[in-house]
Amino acid sequence: SPSRGLGDVYKRQPIPVSDFGSLAPRYRISKALLRNIKDNGYTTTTEVQLAALPLLLDPRPHLHAQVQDKDQEHHVDLLSIAPTGSGKTLAFMIPLIHALTLSRRTQTPSGPQAIILAPTKELASQIANEGRKLALNTAIRITNVRKGMHLASDPSSDPDASANDVPPVKADILVSTPAALKNAIGDVNTTSHALSQIRFLVLDEADVLLDPLFRDQTLAVWNALSNPDLRLGFWSATMGSNIEELVKATIKSRAQSISEASSTPVQIAPFVRLVVGLKDSAVPNVDHRLIYAATEQGKLLALRQLLHPTSTGVDKQPIVRAPFLIFTQTIERAVALHSELLYDIPAEAGGISRISVLHSDLSDTARDHVMT
Ligand code: ADP
Ligand code: MG
Repeated sequence: SPSRGLGDVYKRQPIPVSDFGSLAPRYRISKALLRNIKDNGYTTTTEVQLAALPLLLDPRPHLHAQVQDKDQEHHVDLLSIAPTGSGKTLAFMIPLIHALTLSRRTQTPSGPQAIILAPTKELASQIANEGRKLALNTAIRITNVRKGMHLASDPSSDPDASANDVPPVKADILVSTPAALKNAIGDVNTTSHALSQIRFLVLDEADVLLDPLFRDQTLAVWNALSNPDLRLGFWSATMGSNIEELVKATIKSRAQSISEASSTPVQIAPFVRLVVGLKDSAVPNVDHRLIYAATEQGKLLALRQLLHPTSTGVDKQPIVRAPFLIFTQTIERAVALHSELLYDIPAEAGGISRISVLHSDLSDTARDHVMT
């Protein structure tokens, strides 16, 4: 506003954190968390961490002029777009562990308080592993939700509980694919208590989770969380404006339906979009190339040339080096391409043992084997 000086504007901007050591004096980060950050070899922050940490760790004095009430916890909903490999996992994990550690000082939680969703089991398990390293000795428990787990906090209200002897998962942070979580919560009505405790929802690879392929599952989880103070985080390397619109519309409609159901208005948190690099542009440190292939056969031919160990570009250097990841749109195409390429790898380069196909029709054991 014109009546405000630049100073006011700066006051409302979060101050960047350039190294993890400076988190300690600024925020009441637990000793254990700080130690874990250090022990994992993290000293300076990446760009996305530099900006996201102050936004998520202590949003109260910054940002929103109306937000003055110091007694209430004020957070922002954050949509963060930053290149692949830029350290987004830490950027959402550290504030999450910190927030849950703080609230543990005043009360013991009766169930999970945060959900991190990721589109694949492999990614979910990687996030859970990263999280556990950071949560060592903090009392924050992180669970990777897998098949067969169930989450009802009150066994007497869960008809399945007597049928199987698996005790409900004890965790503060759940990391899961949308499908595995839906499976674990079973009938939303019987587990609504467990889900009402959830205060944080993080979508990693948010553009994929909100893509039509996953959208219904993701929204089902999101809409099942009934806490009016649910805080949201969306993290991705790319984000179409249609996805951002969907996010905003869902925040609004969810607030409306909770307001109606509880007849108390739900406060919508400030929505912040953080962009590292140029939005919707190619990641600068990844070489992109578009190859015109004309037909399906041409595509296969081009791919074979690209992958052949002796293929070189104009500069006589290999065009691409192993290991390779090839993404296809469907399981069928992945299976078909795998069998096309299976015998392409020369025996002296390792032969068929060097190529695998990974998709959700495989058993967990098979997927783990491929990952190994
Ligand atoms: P993204 O999710 O943005 O693609 P990741 O969170 O998977 O990226 O991080 C990529 C790699 O960078 C990981 O191996 C992680 O351990 C490492 N990393 C993250 N933050 C830092 C940091 N501040 N200093 C050094 N390495 C980091
Ligand atoms: Mg990531």
